[in-house]
Amino acid sequence: MENKLFIYNTLSRKKEEFQALNPNHVGLYVCGPTVYGDPHLGHTRPAITFDILFRYLKHIGYKVRYVRNITDVGHLENDGDTGEDKIAKKARLEELEPMEVVQHYTDRYHSYMDQLNVQKPSIEPRASGHIIEQLAIVEDILNKGLAYESNGSVYFDVEKYNKEHHYGALSGRNIEDLLSTTRELDGQSEKRNSFDFALWKKASPEHIMRWPSRFSEGFPGWHLECSAMSARYLGTEFDIHGGGMDLLFPHHECEIAQSTVCNGHTPARYWMHNNMITINGTKMGKSLGNFITLEQMFSGEHEKLEQAYSPMTIRFFIMQAHYRSTLDFSNEALQAAQKGMERLLEGYANLDKLEASENSSFDVKALSDKCYKAIGDDINTPILIAHLFEAVKNINSLLAGKATLTAEDLETLKALMQAMVIDILGLSLDSNNSSENNDGLLSETIKLLLNLRIDAKANKDWATADKIRNELQALGVVVKDTKDGFEWEIK
Ligand code: ZN
Repeated sequence: MENKLFIYNTLSRKKEEFQALNPNHVGLYVCGPTVYGDPHLGHTRPAITFDILFRYLKHIGYKVRYVRNITDVGHLENDGDTGEDKIAKKARLEELEPMEVVQHYTDRYHSYMDQLNVQKPSIEPRASGHIIEQLAIVEDILNKGLAYESNGSVYFDVEKYNKEHHYGALSGRNIEDLLSTTRELDGQSEKRNSFDFALWKKASPEHIMRWPSRFSEGFPGWHLECSAMSARYLGTEFDIHGGGMDLLFPHHECEIAQSTVCNGHTPARYWMHNNMITINGTKMGKSLGNFITLEQMFSGEHEKLEQAYSPMTIRFFIMQAHYRSTLDFSNEALQAAQKGMERLLEGYANLDKLEASENSSFDVKALSDKCYKAIGDDINTPILIAHLFEAVKNINSLLAGKATLTAEDLETLKALMQAMVIDILGLSLDSNNSSENNDGLLSETIKLLLNLRIDAKANKDWATADKIRNELQALGVVVKDTKDGFEWEIK
């Protein structure tokens, strides 16, 4: 690979040069959404962060298998081992089959991701479709003596695991801290230690999402699904595992423990975590009730919103901060993002108006190098955007005749802007003014048909010429022949 990528690896706490296990392929796993409600602004951050990584890896020549799961089972109210399944609760309240809830919110999630121009992952597996794989891991861990059965449920034995491995390696914790911060067991508990986590839970009578197993009718523990699905589609050792920082502990820590017992090593070589979106310094999230849904963002209908914001404005807002920094929500920041995005896209559109000169008055190659260096430096989008604004300044100078570029340098500049703005940052001109673009496309298509009709007439193919005119007429397009060709209008 000509272009390098450095990743801040949460596991080693260092920035490392990315080396793929297979020189041409990258396996990327990202924890996806739990589908029991509408996606909110907080959900856009991992989706967009890893979309840019996915796009950049492909841009520099890798074939990427990107797996992003759908959590549709085993996610309990308090993310612990008690409480009601969130999807089952929604289903009960709305009198739906749980899978209707899952389908409804999965469809909505997809539609919002499309609007944000987030590319589809290569595989989007569902936890409920991988119960067999999850049960196989439970058996494996039990056979290796690192789990125990208790009243129809199975728990991971953290204390025993910690004797040979470091439970807390990813999040920088140790078992003593955990003992002092977790609730004491109340004597009724099925667990040996408060920090043990469920691999399989026996379903209570009111729990609707349940599967048969030799332990009980029940459901898998939340952390198990990602271990099962990443191993199934990417192998037991793959390149990059991503997700939000809120998943670092316990979710990813538990994934590492499970995989280490089964396979002798952590599942992924690089762990990447995006930081949170905050409102007034507090994490935005469903559990805190301080979130703004994407539907509200796009419509402007929320008490905290001064106006509606387009999907591309939100995308740009997310990219203006480095993914490892917190990003605070405010109307001012979103309005500034909207202006910045418009300036960048206008600069991009102006590239078509530029003409080449005899010589170049600035160094395009140096600008290109700076852009690649920024994006390759742990996906540093704010620095990249700063360089792209420099490019826009140059484009405006060229347009005003205050700067010059040779034909070759002009092509380099165009290729750079195409790569960075459109391919990697994923900004889209279309979704910003889609109706205008559709109008343009329609008129170009009608002109194309009428030019084909002129060709047909020149070849004395009267049948085709009449067919084109009559069928356009039937669609409401009135065609008039003139001495230079044609005129048309939509009635
Ligand atoms: Zn996960």
